[in-house]
Amino acid sequence: MQTTVQYVHEPMAHIDIGPHVFPTEKYDLLADAIRRELGVDEARFHGWEALTSNDLARVHTPQYLSDLSHARISPATESSELPVTASVIGGFQRMAGGSLTAARLARRHGIGFHIGGGFHHAFADHAEGFCYINDMAIAIERLRAKDGLGRVLFVDVDVHQGNGTAAIYVEDPETFTYSIHQENNYPVKERSDLDRGLEDGVGDDEYLACLREDLEAIDRTFEPELVCYVAGVDPHRDDMLGGLALTDDGILERDRMVLSRYVARGIPVAIFLAGGYSPDPAQTAKLHLGTARAAEEACRVD
Ligand SMILES: [Zn+2]
Repeated sequence: MQTTVQYVHEPMAHIDIGPHVFPTEKYDLLADAIRRELGVDEARFHGWEALTSNDLARVHTPQYLSDLSHARISPATESSELPVTASVIGGFQRMAGGSLTAARLARRHGIGFHIGGGFHHAFADHAEGFCYINDMAIAIERLRAKDGLGRVLFVDVDVHQGNGTAAIYVEDPETFTYSIHQENNYPVKERSDLDRGLEDGVGDDEYLACLREDLEAIDRTFEPELVCYVAGVDPHRDDMLGGLALTDDGILERDRMVLSRYVARGIPVAIFLAGGYSPDPAQTAKLHLGTARAAEEACRVD
């Protein structure tokens, strides 16, 4: 099978997430840049599929889903740091359908790249840190229930620990959660299968050495059928919410290291954008474009 990158994107104008709550502008900017600068044609762009209530219920608790469906202000929803409104909740819920599409495309084509998603702070029973719905867990549990998916590896390189994902999968031997993040930053840490908490101000060389060492250690113990790459670009030195010091080149090198590793072995990779908070959304989109570039390169050497 020829490995290709398939992209998932819906124009943000199609959903109402509300103004100024989360930098969704980067999604449309990135989709345009992928078309323009990487020459990707429309045949490789896909929309979001619809989720069922069963899909949500495989991951989230009944009480929390009830709060969400009524846009009820409660301790479980207030912690999102987002408006608790039907339009915002509904927007993120529909976007989770795009994560399912991306995971499906990864299994069929090699790489599924969701221009969205990566809401790793969402727990089974409550929201946190801009995340209502754990889109990645929903995608995985649907594919496990309906399509025979087994072992899954999370490689979460967002500057913030993937606490929601870690908590959801803490007891699951079929899911390996790895998070490399800034230790002295949000959130309160949960226990991943492997955590690498970095000191403030860590730059490219130390970061990449730690990442390589950890990926090699994981290879010795866990053989995944699907990798979920939570590719936040907030470890960048200019990020407003991050305290690491990676350069543009460091982020690109990180993406190359992760993607080439699994694509070369024929292991499907689903990519989710997660965080990225440069002062200028165009700069954030440029960093995410590097992830797409690394994905395209990984396919070419396949
Ligand atoms: Zn983050």
